Amino acid sequence: MKPIAFGSALVAAFVSGCTAIPVAAPPQPSAETQHSPSPKLIVAIAVDQFSADLFDEYRESFSGGLARLANGVAFHNGYQSHSITETCLGHSTILSGMHPAHTGIVGNIWFQPSSARGRQPIYCAEDESKLPTTYDPANYVVSPVHLKVPVLGELLKAVSPASQSVAVAGKDRAAVMMGGHTPDVRWYYRTRGTSGKFESDLAGAVATPAVEAINRRIAREIGSEQAPAMQIPADCERRNVPIAVDGGRVVGTGRFAHAPSEKEYHASPALDRDTVDLATALVDERQLGRDSAPDVLAVSLSATDYVGHRYGTEGLEMCIQMHELDQQLARLFGALDSRGIDYAVVLTADHGGTDIPERLRLAGNIEAEREPETLDSKTIGDRIAEQLHLSKNPLVGDGDVYVMPVLDAATRARVIDATVAAYRAFPEVAAVYTKAQLGAVAVPSGDPTRFTLEQRARASFDAERSGDVIVQLKRWVTPIAHPDDYYAATHGSPWDNDRRVPVLFWRRGIEPQSREEPVDTVDIMPTLAAMLGLPLGDRQIDGRCLQAVAGSACSAR
Ligand code: ZN
Repeated sequence: MKPIAFGSALVAAFVSGCTAIPVAAPPQPSAETQHSPSPKLIVAIAVDQFSADLFDEYRESFSGGLARLANGVAFHNGYQSHSITETCLGHSTILSGMHPAHTGIVGNIWFQPSSARGRQPIYCAEDESKLPTTYDPANYVVSPVHLKVPVLGELLKAVSPASQSVAVAGKDRAAVMMGGHTPDVRWYYRTRGTSGKFESDLAGAVATPAVEAINRRIAREIGSEQAPAMQIPADCERRNVPIAVDGGRVVGTGRFAHAPSEKEYHASPALDRDTVDLATALVDERQLGRDSAPDVLAVSLSATDYVGHRYGTEGLEMCIQMHELDQQLARLFGALDSRGIDYAVVLTADHGGTDIPERLRLAGNIEAEREPETLDSKTIGDRIAEQLHLSKNPLVGDGDVYVMPVLDAATRARVIDATVAAYRAFPEVAAVYTKAQLGAVAVPSGDPTRFTLEQRARASFDAERSGDVIVQLKRWVTPIAHPDDYYAATHGSPWDNDRRVPVLFWRRGIEPQSREEPVDTVDIMPTLAAMLGLPLGDRQIDGRCLQAVAGSACSAR
């Protein structure tokens, strides 16, 4: 292992007024410019479902942590540039620098119909060899085994053994995809039936007093305490408008005054509060950012996503959540400031989000609708089985549709043709691709605003794991035919409401830049690597180093 010279990075954006702690044996800066040494701690934050639309809408009302980040190098046209804009894929791009086509993470779930799982899904962050025949949401075994590429923390540790990589998240898949294969610490909130707590799957992980205290508080909130209604911030008043979603449930006026239950807990700002508390405790327990070997702290905050799914993105609930998120981030940064740590932050999202179609329509968007209930592989596959005289529905999955493996080649080809035709017949469908078709397309690169729908689909396609038929819906079609008491709005489309996310960099002394040009979330990792002076050598990375952030350090790789 070759030691690398930390502190040699030339970080152009970070020169003015930087109060960095000097490193142990700083190399001489180049003659042309005096630059600050590289940061001692990278804080990489993903806010689940934090669309660029939300960031733009609330930008002027932030006063805490998000106001600080908006005054760093702020790209509001960032892109999770692929098609299947879901949590696991999005988190897999951020610290790997790679599109899902290369991370291998093509969905939150996918199917391998020829495996022992058959018609049951494989979860992106599980090791299904531990539960071969059953997908069990309460008991799957968490693992990074499906992630095909390394992330920043593990590349850093490979050349700097004293560096630490810590991941903490509101969801296990977020912690797994950002922490990669060799984190020192990985904690995440996990629902277990009607309860939930922060857990770790790493061998030897012990719940410290801080973890235990947070879990005791969660148990109290889930088990017994009625949460009081939260205050309505002044600028949220205009959003306090009741609206009935299809099925009758009223949203838009919620203040998280919930009866005790696990669902109510995790779909509230309390989940982010607890995740931030745990992240802060880990900074102290692990002494992150305190010595000359830089560390990586990956944090994923999940409450925004749960609030968006449950209440939509434009009501009082999301407004309160935005204010709370801003304040939780202020607490996190304040804690790092008070410890004198020289840290750099990047904040982005795993995907954007789309409001409930009922409220979109009231706002004048007449294209907003819910998908018809017949637009699913159960209905379509049953019909194809009848047409082709098959004994069983030959399809499984939605969006990515898989053909069951029991068929002979000729029948299989007929099923694929019939499936493509059946999906194309729906007016709600924008495009349908076959596995063979996408496999022949090159993984796109460059300006994500110029990717065609087919290129977006290719960016999240993996020949081993993707469906035999891949379906994209038209913009503003919500793939929830009938909302229930929890799930009303979603994301996942190839359209910019779900693809466009903020990408915000901050470090003390950074010169504010509000940037308009499009960037990709795969650009984050090579940019952070440049800031750390971590050489990537001839490693293939889908993203590019962002000069506006890392300056001449970008060319040092
Ligand atoms: Zn998500």
